[in-house]
Amino acid sequence: MDFETFFRKELDGLHREGRYRVFADLERQAGRFPTATYHGENGSRDVTVWCSNDYLGMGQHPKVLAAMHQALDGSGAGAGGTRNIGGTNHYHVLLERELADLHGKEAALLFNSGYMSNWASLSTLAAKLPGCVILTDALNHASMIEGIRHSRAEKHIFAHNDPDDLRRKLAALDPNTPKLIAFESVYSMDGDIAPIREFCDIADEFGAMTYLDEVHAVGLYGPRGGGISERDGLTDRLTLIQGTLAKSFGVIGGYITGSAALCDFIRSFASGFIFSSSLPPAVAAGATAAIRHLKESSAERERQQDRVHALRRKLDAAGIPHLPNPSHIVPVMVGEAKACKAISDELLARFDIYVQPINYPTVPRGTERLRITPSPFHSDADIDRLVAALGTIWARDGLQRAA
Ligand code: PMP
Repeated sequence: MDFETFFRKELDGLHREGRYRVFADLERQAGRFPTATYHGENGSRDVTVWCSNDYLGMGQHPKVLAAMHQALDGSGAGAGGTRNIGGTNHYHVLLERELADLHGKEAALLFNSGYMSNWASLSTLAAKLPGCVILTDALNHASMIEGIRHSRAEKHIFAHNDPDDLRRKLAALDPNTPKLIAFESVYSMDGDIAPIREFCDIADEFGAMTYLDEVHAVGLYGPRGGGISERDGLTDRLTLIQGTLAKSFGVIGGYITGSAALCDFIRSFASGFIFSSSLPPAVAAGATAAIRHLKESSAERERQQDRVHALRRKLDAAGIPHLPNPSHIVPVMVGEAKACKAISDELLARFDIYVQPINYPTVPRGTERLRITPSPFHSDADIDRLVAALGTIWARDGLQRAA
C-alpha cells in the first residue's frame, strides 16, 4: 500500500469539506491577555483572542506565576517519574487536598489531562465492576465516550439532558445490575446545563452511581468555584466529580474527586494513571494557587458574567444569531463548514480577531459555529470591535439574522 497517497487522500477530503484544522501560531503574552501575538505568513502582529478556554485569565495571574516560579526554582522541572515510582511530589499531595476540599469530597486523584481523567476513570469503573451498565448522555465529550468504549461494558445512550429518556432506559435494565450515569454540567459547545438534581433523583431511584464532568464549570460557578454542583448544593449527591486544571485554573492536568475508597480504587487499577509520569511540580503549585484564589475571590467570575451579558446584548442589537443558554459560552451560529472557516479567516486577516471555527465532528453538521468565550479581560471596546466585524460580514454575505 502507498501510505503517503492514502494520508494525502484522507486529508484532501477534509480540505474539500472545509473542515481541515489549521493551528493559529499564537504567542500568548502574560499580562496582556486576551491580546496575543499572531505569527502568520505575512509577519507577526497583535490579535484579540476570543476563543480561549483560559476562561478567567488565571494562566497569567500573578499569584499563579509566583507559585510556579517558586516551585520551579525549588523543585526543578519535571516530577521524575510516575506517582508510584518517585513521581509523587509534595505539591501533588497539596493539590489533591485542595481539590477534595473544593468539591467537598473525601479524596481527589490527579491525572495529566482532563481527557485522561475521564478516559481512565470511566474505563476502569465500567470494566472492573462486574456487569456494570453505563448510561451516557448523547452529547458527552470524546474522552468519556472513548473510556466507556474501551471498557467494553454494556452502554445505553440517553437523549441529551433528558431525564425521561434516562428513566425509561434505566427501568428496562435488570434492577440488580450495577449502573453508572455519566454526564456533564456545562456542555462546551452549546453552553447548556444538565438537570443535575433530576439526574441524581433518578440515580437514587435506581441505585445508580453518578459521574459528573465539570470541566467547563469549575472555577466559574458556585461560591468557591466548585462548579454547578456546588452552586446548586448537589456535591454530596454525586458519586464522582471530574474536572480539569487547564481551563479556569489556567494550567494543565485533570482530576477526579469522590470517596476515599473510590479514588483509591481508580489509583490502584487505572492504567492511564499508574503508567504515566506525573505533572511537573510547578504545574501542581500553579493549579493550587489558582484554586485557592478562586475559592476566596468571586470578582473574576462576576466580571466574566458581566462581559458575557454585555456581548449577548450587543449581538442581539446587531441581529447576529447566537444560541441562548445560561452559561458563559456564546455560540454564534453559522451552519456551514466552509462559511464558518471563511468567517474565522476573515476575522483574523482583516480585523485582528481570533476565533477558531467549530466544525463536524466537534458539533453536528449544519450547526457549525464560532464559539466565543468572553473573559474578565475583554473590554467594552473589544466587544464593540468584535460585534462590528461580525455585523460587517453578516450584512455583506447576507447571512441568517437573529429573529
Ligand atoms: N471534558 C470536556 C467536557 C471537555 O470539553 C474537555 C476538553 N475540552 C475535556 C474533558 C478534556 O479536558 P483536558 O483539555 O484537560 O484534557
